[in-house]
This record gives sequence, structure tokens and C-alpha cells, in this order.
Amino acid sequence: MFFAVTDQAFVTLATDDVYCQGALVLGQSLRNHRTSRKLTVLITPEVSSGIRSVLSSVFDEVIEVDVLDSADSVHLALMQRPELGVTFTKLRCWTLTHYSKCVFMDADTLVLCNVDELFDWEEFSAAPDSGWPDCFNSGVFVFRPSLDTYNLLLQFAAEHGSFDGGDQGLLNSFFSNWARADIGKHLPFLYNLSSSSLYTYVPAFNHFGRDAKVVHFLGATKPWNYKYNLQTKRVMQDDTASGSFHQLPFLGLWWNIYSASILPLLEKLQKMEDSD
Ligand code: UDP
Ligand code: MN
Repeated sequence: MFFAVTDQAFVTLATDDVYCQGALVLGQSLRNHRTSRKLTVLITPEVSSGIRSVLSSVFDEVIEVDVLDSADSVHLALMQRPELGVTFTKLRCWTLTHYSKCVFMDADTLVLCNVDELFDWEEFSAAPDSGWPDCFNSGVFVFRPSLDTYNLLLQFAAEHGSFDGGDQGLLNSFFSNWARADIGKHLPFLYNLSSSSLYTYVPAFNHFGRDAKVVHFLGATKPWNYKYNLQTKRVMQDDTASGSFHQLPFLGLWWNIYSASILPLLEKLQKMEDSD
């Protein structure tokens, strides 16, 4: 029996056409594993109209929001990741008050199985960050949309900024009791397995990794930065990928979905645009 749950949604964010590729693969992976929840993508004005139409064939809702920038260039420069300022736009997800509960997922995540049980968790639930486990990683989290919370977050951002210049620092300061208050709000690491940091504890990955539910391609090099051979169905590791430790099997999964389900949509779009 399949029951659609219409007041809960998976939510992601893509501020440009490049990140939309990730959002499309994520959305398709949720569809492939038959989620019973709605799929929502937040976009900003920069996203092209063609990509918007492709997004709407995978997502139930494509919602345009304005960019929210941390304008915290000093912190971001420290992190060598100037593009992360726009991740403050993530806070807009709290404005989706037509849902009672949502799961936010970064556009660089991929689900490996049905993960609808994530909705059993409460706000604010997230998995530990592999670099600093007393912080949560903000790539996957359970939340309840609320304009009150949204306004408190904006106020907090204006007063305190973010210790890493992005949404993760801000959210960790805002939900600062996450580490110790309630272990029930710690998602298992399997729901936000960072594909680049697995090498830090290889025996654990070998032992538990087969149960991975969500892979997160965090870091500067994303799956769409690799080259893929459509004939051999292999990800090519060359100079563009140097310094990156993403696990090849997970990259292969991402590219399988991209080539099987997303490329045909983009090619159809290209043909329509060429004939105009
Ligand atoms: N994001 C975006 N445009 C950007 C940068 C980030 O839409 O230019 C969104 C996207 O959903 C992305 C999330 O913000 O997955 C967090 O950024 P990213 O995944 O690059 O950070 P990391 O997980 O590598 O720390
Ligand atoms: Mn990410």
C-alpha cells in the first residue's frame, strides 16, 4: 500500500544551473526509491528558465527565493570557499510553512534507499560532522518550517554571523545544544556519510559502509566536476579530481542516475531550445 504524505517534504537548494545538476540527481534518487513525501527545490533568480522546467519534471515544487548572503567575506576567505556565502539562502527553508515537517538535503547528496523514516525524527535532528563531531553537518537535517524560527535565525545571523561564514556555523551556534541535549536528535552517520572523509576510518567504513543510506559529496570537488565515459559507464579520475577522495563506487552511482535519467531531460530541453 502506498500512502502519499502531502504535508511533509524533502527540500533542497540550488542557486545556479550547476548546483541544479546535483539537485536533479538527488530528486531522481528519492523518486527511484519511491518516497511518499513531496519533493521541493528552492532556487534563486539566477537559475535559467530551461533548467526550471527540467526541475519541475522531477520535483513537485520549484520555489524561487532571493539570495541570502552572509556577506562575511573574511570568514569565507579563511575557508577558501568564497561561494559558501550563498548557503545562507538555506535558511529560507524555514519559510515553507505549508509543510508541517521537512528534511533538508544538500544538492550534493544522494539517497541509496528509501529514507522516509527520517520524518520520524524531530526538529532539530542532524548527523555529526566528520571533521568535528560535536558539530552537526548541515547537509541533511530534519526541521519544522516556522516563520518565528526563520526570523530568529535571521536575527541571530545579523547579531552573531557565522563562525565558518556559511549556514553550518550559523546553525550550529543557533541549535547549540544539539551535541548534548538529546541523543534522539542525532541522526546516524549513515544518513549523511561524507564520501570524502571515509578514508579517515577505513575499518569502520568496511564494517558499516554497506548500510549507508545517504552519501554526501562534500568539499570543493563535486560529482559533476568529474568526467564520465558514457560508453564504458566509468568515472574518469584525472587532474580535475586531484586532491579529492570521493569513493568511486558512489561517484559511479551519481553518474548512473545522471546519465540514465537527467541527461535525457537536458537533451530534450536542448532540442527544444535549438528549434526555437
Ligand atoms: N549551494 C548552492 N549554490 C552554491 C553553493 C551551495 O545552491 O553556489 C547549496 C547546495 O544545495 C549545496 C549547499 O548549498 O549542496 C551547501 O553547499 P556545499 O554542498 O557546496 O557545501 P559542502 O557540503 O561542500 O560543505
Ligand atoms: Mn554539501
